[in-house]
Amino acid sequence: MNKMKLAEYDPIIKQAITKELQRQESGLEMIPSENFVSIAVLEALGSVLTNKYSEGYPGKRYYGGCEFIDEVEVTAIERAKQLFGAEHINVQPLSGAPANVAVYFGILEPGDTILGMDLSHGGHLTHGHPVTYMAKVFNFVRYKTNAEGNIDFDNLRAMALEHKPKLILVGYSAYSREIEYDKVKQIADEVGAYTMADVAHIAGLIAAGEMNNPVPLFDIVTTTTHKTLRGPRGGMIMCKEKFAKQIDKAVFPGLQGGPHENNIAAKAIAFKEALEPSFKDYAKQIKTNAKVLERVFAERGYKLMFGGTDNHLLLIDVTPKGVTGKQGQYALDEAGITVNKNMIPDDPRSPMDPSGIRLGTPALTTRGMKEAEMELIGDMIDRVLTHSTDHELLTRIRAEVKTLSARFPLYPELAV
Ligand SMILES: *Cc1c(COP(=O)(O)O)cnc(C)c1O
Repeated sequence: MNKMKLAEYDPIIKQAITKELQRQESGLEMIPSENFVSIAVLEALGSVLTNKYSEGYPGKRYYGGCEFIDEVEVTAIERAKQLFGAEHINVQPLSGAPANVAVYFGILEPGDTILGMDLSHGGHLTHGHPVTYMAKVFNFVRYKTNAEGNIDFDNLRAMALEHKPKLILVGYSAYSREIEYDKVKQIADEVGAYTMADVAHIAGLIAAGEMNNPVPLFDIVTTTTHKTLRGPRGGMIMCKEKFAKQIDKAVFPGLQGGPHENNIAAKAIAFKEALEPSFKDYAKQIKTNAKVLERVFAERGYKLMFGGTDNHLLLIDVTPKGVTGKQGQYALDEAGITVNKNMIPDDPRSPMDPSGIRLGTPALTTRGMKEAEMELIGDMIDRVLTHSTDHELLTRIRAEVKTLSARFPLYPELAV
């Protein structure tokens, strides 16, 4: 076994990690699906648990030596149940995408119809985008938001009655409004469809009681653990007890092999953190910060999709400012502000150069930034987007970004 420290043995990788740490420290991370995990979570990810094979589930493993692994996985499950009030939980999905795939195969047959939201209206790739394999296996049909940006329940019901889906899917990647799960459930019951919510983006807000929780109402709820939930990169499936066997079999052996127990340990730690009272304050502040940005952008003439935000993110049409989503993203990158270009509902432009940018507050809020910082950042973003080709100005804003982020150190423990 190699006994050298990383820095000595592999300077190429060590330097890349150090530079990435510096990038995270010195910039403003506003991709709404990103966050910063705690030192404890990092520690578990880098632990010896990565060495262990543990195919199967606690108490029913195909390998010996799983007594401590079982402790880890049971702890993760119990904490997640407490957080969301779920009857059954599978913490093994390697990420959000495989969690969704496992559900589709666990409760449906190939060719079955799934009713999900149109992708340009906020849906996710794994909800049947034509580029995914799932789109070849299942028949995806789509509902949309209405002109005001709200989910059009009349349209959703009409489509459900017409297409008789086996599954109705809610939960989105670029949708900024609250979701009325009870209305969806009513429609699903009317047509005999299963209900699934993919709360990947908003799981942390739900866990903190800051957004509606679909878990008590819906058959199945999937999530990632690395977005607002602020855990390691990973996925999770919550379901009613009656689906437990199907879901567990679909994850393993249906889709995956050995679970990543270092990752499951890190999930358990993140769940413990999310159970703390301070996580409630965190979730509240995420929403407050997003509301400040909503006001700043509205005041400055930007077009906010869905009319604003109830959660952590904003989808903004930047074309009225004379830039495209791609140009906006690049200019903001130059200034040290990381966002992503994004389609807006019924976008006339292409996915590679859409009309919008999507940004959010979870990562900045983790750094401790509050209303005053959001005012500053909203102003910086507006200046960048208004003068996106003025490289001198972008350099000056980059310096302002550095000064601001230096006031909110991220990982002083890891400082080099
Ligand atoms: C992020 C996301 C996923 C996918 O998660 P990965 O971990 O990237 O596979 C699935 N669904 C929704 C709604 C998401 O936002």
